[in-house]
Amino acid sequence: MATLPLPPGSTLGILGGGQLGRMLALAAARLGFDVAVLERDADSPAGRVAAHTIVGAYDDPAALEQLAAVAQVVTFEFENVPADSVLKLQSLGVEVAPGPEALAVAQDRIAEKQFLNASGAPTVAFSAADTAEEAVAATAAMGAPVLMKTRREGYDGKGQRWVEHAADAAAAFTELGGVPVILEAPADFVRELSIIAARGRDGATAVYPLAENHHEGGILRRSLAPAQVSEDLAFQAEKIAARILKGLNYVGVVGIELFELKDGTLLVNEIAPRVHNTGHWTQDGCAADQFEQHIRAVAGWPLAPTVPHARVEMLNLLGDEAEAWSKLAHEPDTRIHLYGKRDPKPGRKMGHVNKLKAL
Ligand code: AMP
Repeated sequence: MATLPLPPGSTLGILGGGQLGRMLALAAARLGFDVAVLERDADSPAGRVAAHTIVGAYDDPAALEQLAAVAQVVTFEFENVPADSVLKLQSLGVEVAPGPEALAVAQDRIAEKQFLNASGAPTVAFSAADTAEEAVAATAAMGAPVLMKTRREGYDGKGQRWVEHAADAAAAFTELGGVPVILEAPADFVRELSIIAARGRDGATAVYPLAENHHEGGILRRSLAPAQVSEDLAFQAEKIAARILKGLNYVGVVGIELFELKDGTLLVNEIAPRVHNTGHWTQDGCAADQFEQHIRAVAGWPLAPTVPHARVEMLNLLGDEAEAWSKLAHEPDTRIHLYGKRDPKPGRKMGHVNKLKAL
């Protein structure tokens, strides 16, 4: 079993080698840890800044054993880690955070909405459907339009279809692959917001100010933070975050996506049991960013303050936009974060910039 708080010089494991893993690894290195990344690809953004890369699938028992041999605490950069992998690591004496409850809830949109509503964190109305017939009946019962999403494994707006008439639900179900779906009532939102929150191993919590988020084609384009919000809205968001963290007995950073409705109330869209793209602004807007906060939490360290010292506009660099690095490098008050990805496919997240403004 790991000694907690985990002392500097220990090795921390990260499942996943993408940009979130890379920024977690950099934050962990700054706190004196060595990082071991488990990733299918031998040449990954996180692997290139980590002390060790273990090449393998997340459910490869030999790779998990190798990770457990070097790392005392393991975390992950994405939510589709198989539950069995977490159980396997735990059985090998490794502390895994966030825990299996958080993963189970975040991997299934129905379990997620049920958990949220039971915890007092409101969501849109929803129904589950496992067949085309059920999808048609549920759409008719809810009243179209509804947003059909696969229950599992959707991201960046993938795996979703608007259904304008109940009769169209069968075709949408087939287009989404004939897998179990959730049907969601439309959220008539005026803004999309998010809150990045953390809970330590001692149950202490910390929340960053809200971010206002703008998406294009289902992909986050820009975030503005701290968002201009009333005290009441900030209080509602903090209350929602506290309920989620406590309800999941959570350890680590969570990203909570919110809809702000016209009447000034908030609904939760979804939760990500990990560091989140809408929290990248904290790298240049706060003394300790979401990546350090996550490492602190999982390593059993005290949480850091979340007070902002700047307003930040975060812009994702998608596809070949990152090739403008030399122009961006001339801009004052712009901090460039590039992920070291080799292949700038259209829409792929290659980096981001944080543009600093006065608070
Ligand atoms: P998601 O993959 O659930 O985060 O959804 C991606 C985006 O689709 C969100 O950021 C919203 O812009 C939009 N969206 C998701 N769910 C709803 C909903 N129930 N009503 C309206 N828009 C939604």
